[in-house]
Amino acid sequence: MSIICERCQYSTDEISNMYRHLNRKKPCKSTFSNISPIEIMNKLKKYDKSVLDYNGNRVYKCKYCEKIFKLNSSRCTHQHNCKFKEYFFKIQELTNTNNDLKNQLSNYTNESNNV
Ligand SMILES: [Zn+2]
Ligand SMILES: [Zn+2]
Repeated sequence: MSIICERCQYSTDEISNMYRHLNRKKPCKSTFSNISPIEIMNKLKKYDKSVLDYNGNRVYKCKYCEKIFKLNSSRCTHQHNCKFKEYFFKIQELTNTNNDLKNQLSNYTNESNNV
């Protein structure tokens, strides 16, 4: 499965490479789409949902990266040290800020409609 950056069409098989690509200090060129790197990262989250492997066995996925573990305890240990943890929280923080701004904007729009 390859993941493609909608902005520059960079593609990789590793979700972690894509996170790294989107987290560069200097963002890639938005030649193909104006979508923000944060929005792309949000879309990547949909790959995190599956918890069943090919045989229908329950497996445990690191919530920060794509790594799969047979044992929940191995996952916990990994998650504790996962190097993509900081990206995860960064995305979450940015999404929250984004929603706050949207709310403020819609409040503002409502107020000005009432005048
Ligand atoms: Zn890109
Ligand atoms: Zn991880």
